[in-house]
Amino acid sequence: MKVIHNVSDTQIYLRELRITSNKTIGFIPTMGALHDGHISLVEQSVKNNDITVVSVFVNPRQFNDKSDFENYPVNHQRDLDLLDKAGCNLVFLPSADDIYKNFVGFNMDFNGLDKIYEGEFRPGHFQGVVDIVYRLFEIVNPHKAYFGQKDFQQLAIIKLMTKLANFDIEIVSCPIVREKSGLAMSSRNLRLSQEQFKNAANIYKLLIVIANKLKVGDDTDKHCQYFIDEIEKISDMKAEYCVFCNPESLVSVKKINKNSEIIMCVAVWCGKIRLIDNIILVF
Ligand code: AMP
Repeated sequence: MKVIHNVSDTQIYLRELRITSNKTIGFIPTMGALHDGHISLVEQSVKNNDITVVSVFVNPRQFNDKSDFENYPVNHQRDLDLLDKAGCNLVFLPSADDIYKNFVGFNMDFNGLDKIYEGEFRPGHFQGVVDIVYRLFEIVNPHKAYFGQKDFQQLAIIKLMTKLANFDIEIVSCPIVREKSGLAMSSRNLRLSQEQFKNAANIYKLLIVIANKLKVGDDTDKHCQYFIDEIEKISDMKAEYCVFCNPESLVSVKKINKNSEIIMCVAVWCGKIRLIDNIILVF
């Protein structure tokens, strides 16, 4: 496995593989502190492509909360060992100065998608995500890029950006990987205390309870209120939002219709750690 830090070396190396050697390239952007969720994306890419590239970069532009950025877990050696084992071919480990040199940002019309749900509580977050993914797509120029369904809104926005920017890249959406308890894997889980880690499993448990109760004709607000109230009963936990929406357009859904696919999305504070999760429901 090759590790490159420099932007132009990465471009030259991958251009040669893509154009001269005719290799297909799969790409997974990450912020490191890797877990089995990230590795599942890598394994998917290894299966589908000749070459798998992973970037590890904690992107300052997408943090609306300075202390979240400063406390974001970093462990490059462990990440490199995991990626090597998973069959990754190239790790791109850039510096912020190099990656953003002469790059102002990608100006796009989010059609309001950056202001709702996650966007309402994390102002500027999605512009930061779009900036880094746009820049990484320019540098890596993959055939396919892999993203987790856990970040449902990020996925919808990246699909929109790819279309608006005319990138010829297939965006592949991958299922959420969970701990044995059901808690969605996240790099931020490393910052939970033992008790918080145990309590956080209730997020998915409640999503399942609600999924089992839901039926056609139901008013979704009622189920969201139940989620919020049940989370509030757990020590040190508070729900930030709960929403049902269309998984593609992200338009909110107030009533469950027959033959519809809906995603139920939540954000929950566990002490000072903010966790998100979701579940796709088909009626
Ligand atoms: P991050 O390092 O948090 O920016 O995540 C990098 C990629 O891994 C994103 O596409 C995430 O959606 C994806 N990801 C994070 N957690 C999980 C998980 N538990 N299961 C599947 N994919 C995940």
